[in-house]
Amino acid sequence: MKFIDEYRHPALLKSQLAELRRGVTRRWVIMDVCGGQTHSLLRHGLEEALEDVLELVHGPGCPVCVTPAEAIDDAVKLAKRPDVILASFGDMLRVPGRNGSLLLARAAGADVRTVYSPVDAVQLAAKEPTRQVVFFGVGFETTAPATALAVLQARQLGVKNFSVLVHHVRVEPAMRAVMQLPDNRVQGFLAAGHVCTVTGFAHYGAFVEEFQVPVVVTGFEPLDLLTGLTECVRLLETRQPQLRNQYARSVRPEGNPHAQRLIDEVYTIATVPWRGLGAIPDGGLVMRSEWRDFDARNRFELPAPVSSSDGDCRSADVMAGRIKPPECPLFGNACTPDTPVGAPMVSSEGACAAYFRYARSPISTESASGPLAPALRGEG
Ligand code: SF4
Repeated sequence: MKFIDEYRHPALLKSQLAELRRGVTRRWVIMDVCGGQTHSLLRHGLEEALEDVLELVHGPGCPVCVTPAEAIDDAVKLAKRPDVILASFGDMLRVPGRNGSLLLARAAGADVRTVYSPVDAVQLAAKEPTRQVVFFGVGFETTAPATALAVLQARQLGVKNFSVLVHHVRVEPAMRAVMQLPDNRVQGFLAAGHVCTVTGFAHYGAFVEEFQVPVVVTGFEPLDLLTGLTECVRLLETRQPQLRNQYARSVRPEGNPHAQRLIDEVYTIATVPWRGLGAIPDGGLVMRSEWRDFDARNRFELPAPVSSSDGDCRSADVMAGRIKPPECPLFGNACTPDTPVGAPMVSSEGACAAYFRYARSPISTESASGPLAPALRGEG
């Protein structure tokens, strides 16, 4: 299979769906860790198609959602300085901190720019030598190599007015934190395929061994998700807590060594706070001391953020798999994409945004509009 359509072909989806359903004898609780997978499950009607046989819960795999409110407050504080240009990916702009968002700061006159890559921010700094350009570097192991590369490039080019406000996080420690919750119900995981393209997946071996749950590295297309779920169910049904890679077209066991070297050169592993979830041991990356000139926290003397609660937002319960977004009392009334109370309603990878967009009311097999719809209707 080479082309994307083949991963959405109704006949293949129907066949895979039937295989999955044949193999289930009880309603297992499976967590997809990545927000991109959550959106795909909802958008293509898979969650609804499997509702009666599997409980799919959606984990802490949205980087925007897990960035603490304090980190956003720090970004807003920097953006308000007249000598600073705050550069960020667009997704972060609407996420509320405790004192508003970067978008509100921009409306009030702060110089907040959207960039598509951290390297764009280095170029911006080179063009604006009298200003300080701070890139707001958030995200998982997928985006950390790019911010590391930007730092290396800034040093190489002698761009001294560039720095990064870092909040990079690591996926596996967050899965570990979920498993260690006293009320954890998760019995199997779909691991985020794109993160594994960087990190590889061998490190999940110890996780599987320790927690005795299956982990299946899975992609994002409907057929990827169905094959990943089918394998996870098979491992659960046969009592085999093992590690599998169902995304071999993108993920190698060793990952991407070049990207890993970039991360290792600039960052070191640390305990960092996750929004709503608190401090997660080894849950993030901070800049090594030899790169502290490019660390905005050092340059602007900002203390490290501490764990923050999320007010009335139930995002921690959503990301731990305790509830689904519609079970939050604010979902769809006080909290909507236009009036977000919490980050998961803002982010393009947030679980609450996915439910609001694709599953506000039950989707019948007749009304399902994703590519699985023909299969659900018995067509194709
Ligand atoms: Fe938070 Fe809104 Fe989601 Fe509730 S619906 S958990 S308030 S983002």
